[in-house]
Amino acid sequence: AAKAYGRGRAQLFNPTLDAEARTLAQLLADLRQALVRGEFVAHYQPRVNAGDGRITSAEALIRWHHPQRGLLFPDAFIAVAESYGLIAPIGRWILDAACQQMAQWRREGIDIARVSVNVSAVQFESGELVGQVQNALERHAVPPATLELEITESLLVDENDALFAQLTALRDMGVTLALDDFGTGYSSMAALRKLPIDVMKIDRSFVIDLETDASALPAVRAIVALAQASHLHLVAEGVETETQARMLRELGCHELQGYLYSRPVEPSKFLQLPGLRHGAPAA
Ligand code: C2E
Ligand code: MG
Ligand code: MG
Ligand code: MG
Repeated sequence: AAKAYGRGRAQLFNPTLDAEARTLAQLLADLRQALVRGEFVAHYQPRVNAGDGRITSAEALIRWHHPQRGLLFPDAFIAVAESYGLIAPIGRWILDAACQQMAQWRREGIDIARVSVNVSAVQFESGELVGQVQNALERHAVPPATLELEITESLLVDENDALFAQLTALRDMGVTLALDDFGTGYSSMAALRKLPIDVMKIDRSFVIDLETDASALPAVRAIVALAQASHLHLVAEGVETETQARMLRELGCHELQGYLYSRPVEPSKFLQLPGLRHGAPAA
């Protein structure tokens, strides 16, 4: 009988889909409230120098204190925010939070070169990103060189002039650009060579396999060679063991990031991490 209604009609009576639609609608309503009520927080994960283990920078990672569901991680809401027009205000929030944090670290004399913020492809579509970055930097009076933006390879799939212009504008401003999750996407050598990026982050999946899967080692070697040929600073993410750290250091990674050093933590805990240098406030 359902068939008689046609495909579209039949779906209206599908209780599972109905529940999913309600869940989605609720999530979207909650997300809008989250911005108004200030329920987002930024946690920070250190990145360390592969040579001496000192903390060089921090990646800002968004979390959401949901009033009913507790602490939510980005996989629970970022993709939905991207699909339903909410990533722009969320992106603006985290940029502002990270710049504010950087300003505070500088006032406190925390010797940290950069804070990095993840930027989704959708944020480039609106054309507002460059202005948002400029505003955040100015509002908190932090030098552009202390901000790094992490973009993913998926952004590069449909290469276009508008995107290239924005990346160039950010670079010209003095902001550092990093290619996140490298190795999981499809960026061509050609794209890599043309792009105004400074940093490449090897995806965690390669790091996980280093100790166990014989094919991971040549893959990482190839990535290292690619980064060197492109004059990119190389960071490995998802480092969990000393063995992985040693292998990556010997392979030629410049910086390491992962649970071995710290999980992403709230700012008060970040201050207590070993490997963080405390000195005089920045001028
Ligand atoms: P990402 O940018 O690749 O961030 C690294 C993710 O790996 C983080 O997950 C981090 O907690 C996790 N991680 C770091 N070290 C280790 C490790 O040693 N082992 C394991 N198992 N995991 C590790 P998180 O915070 O859940 O973020 C997931 C993704 O969500 C991020 O991946 C990023 O793509 C996205 N994301 C996070 N914050 C933001 C944001 O503010 N804006 C946007 N657009 N995306 C964000
Ligand atoms: Mg990242
Ligand atoms: Mg990553
Ligand atoms: Mg990512």
